[in-house]
This record gives sequence, structure tokens and C-alpha cells, in this order.
Amino acid sequence: MVHVSFPYSAPVSQTLFDRAAAVTPGGVNSPVRAFRAVGGTPRFMVSGTGPYLTDADGREYVDLVCSWGPMILGHAHPEVIAAVQEAVARGTSFGTPGEGEVALAEEIVARIGPVEQVRLVSSGTEATMSAIRLARGFTGRAKVIKFAGCYHGHVDALLASAGSGVATLGLPDTPGVTGAQAGDTIVLPYNDIEAVHEAFHNHPGQIACVITEASPGNMGVVPPRPGFNEGLKSACEKNGALFISDEVMTGFRTSRAGWFGVDGVVPDLMTFGKVMGGGFPAAAFGGRADVMAHLAPAGPVYQAGTLSGNPVATAAGLAQLRLLDDAAYAKVDAVSESVRALVTEALTKEGVAHRVQNASNMFSVFFTDREVRDYDGAKAQESFRFTAFFHSMLAQGVYLPPSAFESWFVSTAHDERAVEKIAAALPAAARAAAEAEEVSA
Ligand code: PLP
Repeated sequence: MVHVSFPYSAPVSQTLFDRAAAVTPGGVNSPVRAFRAVGGTPRFMVSGTGPYLTDADGREYVDLVCSWGPMILGHAHPEVIAAVQEAVARGTSFGTPGEGEVALAEEIVARIGPVEQVRLVSSGTEATMSAIRLARGFTGRAKVIKFAGCYHGHVDALLASAGSGVATLGLPDTPGVTGAQAGDTIVLPYNDIEAVHEAFHNHPGQIACVITEASPGNMGVVPPRPGFNEGLKSACEKNGALFISDEVMTGFRTSRAGWFGVDGVVPDLMTFGKVMGGGFPAAAFGGRADVMAHLAPAGPVYQAGTLSGNPVATAAGLAQLRLLDDAAYAKVDAVSESVRALVTEALTKEGVAHRVQNASNMFSVFFTDREVRDYDGAKAQESFRFTAFFHSMLAQGVYLPPSAFESWFVSTAHDERAVEKIAAALPAAARAAAEAEEVSA
């Protein structure tokens, strides 16, 4: 248990949360939004502009969540909004093929070398679920290797030892997932290539694929150690399994070509979401043409979606991707570096043990003095200090992810004023973290 005082109230958000709790489980439509890990009232947001969000009580925040990654150009970017308005005016869904989805697929294929063919879906969960099914259909094998602390959406087979909300809420294995589904999942420690070799040795001819976050952000940011992704790729190759790189979070964010653009390791299949939808529900999976050819209607592995390739979502995604040139990534990287330096300075000054870890412009703060290389390392941090830090920042108008196990995100819209507001809030937040005490239950 953690003792925290909430420095100010948010009466309108509280009223909305009470109404929500009456009609929606836990009052939210995605668990981490509920502030369970940090306590207090989740803020109901009413608008966003550039790097700022405004809540229902009329308070403005510098946003360091960016909708959990998608809003890499900031909120309500004028060119994205114009593309959406133009698309909406032509109709919102046709249930037929349309040019927008072709153009978005072409943009993805052009940016990301290993993607020869791509299928559009509506969420990252759908993308990873479909990629796993395709890998099983292609190889005729059942088992899947995943890593503890990696989150791939709420796919039954992939929820074991998942990061993100499962980590935030400290949930054990999720009820509702059958033994058969869980039994085909092999969970290994992240960054441990020996464990991967051993699993292939122990299950000869049974492993369909290895799925990993290209660079994990769902246990906090824990980059792959040098050679780890390369090792996964060659272990898969040697054993006739497919290597699936989940770039839902890193894709089109950590570089023009996502994490593939950083480490150059070529997967068999990749999954995307978040940035590619420009704030709308659009996601994708793609990769080797000979593997993708197994997908219906070209092949026997079934996959479909009423709203897949939706014209408004594809217009938003395409507009956003077309604005993401080298200058845009240089800006996001520079903002990330400034904020990381400010956080380090403030926590160091207060003598708070911490590690700021980053993967390109994605970063998070671990309250520990040890480098975090896996999920056990992430869980060993003093997360009660994060709780105090979070509430101090919130009270001063800076919106952080309400969990110590999530990446922070910045955008091209984070200008000098926004960074100054973060800088001004950090000293008090660092002090709060230093003074925080864990209270035993
Ligand atoms: N894969 C990764 C790496 C993610 O970070 C997420 C979501 O955070 C997902 C998959 C699931 O995406 P969605 O929430 O769109 O279903």
C-alpha cells in the first residue's frame, strides 16, 4: 500500500467518473485509464491542441502520454484534421475496397523494407492475433514464444505475463483464458537468448513463432540488448519458426521505419497500430509475401473486419505518416532528449535512485539504481515513488502515464513553452518522490 495525498480535486471529472462507474466496469473502457495504480480521480479530457490537453474541470496539462503513442504530431494537427474532415464529408464507411486503404498500404510498404504485403485491421490486438494465427496456419505448428513484460494486446494466447495494464494492476493469469490457449504459450524472460535456444530444444518442431515487442515499452522502456533481436531471428530461421516483431508501439515512432529502422533486423511478420492511425482505429500486420499469401481470400487462413481499412481512419493515418519526415523525427528525438535530461537532473538533485531508459524517443523512468533489462527488473523498482511523482506532476499541470510500467511519449508539437512547464514542475515532483514512503498494508 502507498500513502499519497491528492493535492487538489477535480469535481467535474469525479462526477463523470461516478456516472461512468454506474454503466461501465471500473468506469473506463481500457483499464490503465482508471488510475488504479496511482489512486485519485482519472481526468476526463474534453479537448487537445498541440502538446496540451484540457480536462472537464477546465485545467490544462502538458501531455506526455499522447494517447499512448499515436499523437506524434500533437493533438488536432490542422493537416490531419483537414484530411479527416474531407474524408468524413464523403461518407464514413462503405464496406467495399477504397483508394485510401491502398495508399496507406503503399506508404507502409514503401517505408518498411521487410513488409512486402500488408493487411489493415482496426486495433493492435487484432494485428497480433491475426499474425499469430497466420504463423500457426503457415507452419502447421501450435506453440508461441513470448516474453514476460511484453504486451501484445489482449489476445488470449498472449496475456500470460503481459506488460501494460496487466503489469499495472499486478494481475496474475487472466480468468477466461482456457488452459489450452495458455498451454501453447511459452513465456520466457526478456533479453535471455539462452532461454530461447532451450525452448526450441525442448519443443522440437512445435513452435510456430516467436513474438516480441521490437523494443519493449509496456514494462516501461526496456530496449533489446545488442544482438538479442538478431539472435531471435536466427533461432527462428534455424528451427523453421516465424519471427514476429510487434511494432504497434515503436512503428513509425522510433524512426521513419520504426524500430526496424534502428536495428535493421528483418522479421518474417510485423504488426503496427497507434501512429499509423493518426488517432483513429487503424492497425496492420504484414511481412513476407509468401507468408501473407496464406491469408484469405488468397489463401486458407481466415481473417476479416467490417471496418478494416475504414476511409476516415486511413485518411487520418495517411495524412499523419506523410507529415512524418526526417525533420519531424529529429524534432521528436530532440524533445525527448530535453525532457529526459530535465528528469535526470531533478531526480539526481533530490538523491532519488532512478534510471531513465530510452529507445530512440520513447522513454520511461524507473525508480531503481539498476539498469532494467527484463520484467523482474522492472517490478523491482520502488514504484511508490512514481505514485508521489505522478501526482505532483499532475497537480502542476503535467499529464504522465498513470503507471510506472508505461512509456512516456512526446510529439513534434512539444514546444519551448511545454518543455518549460515540465521543467518548472519537476523539482517539486522529484522532492515528492524523495519523500515518498511505502506504507505496509
Ligand atoms: N502491441 C503493442 C506493443 C502495444 O503496445 C499494444 C497496445 O498498447 C498492442 C499491441 C495492442 O494494441 P491495441 O491497444 O490497439 O489493441
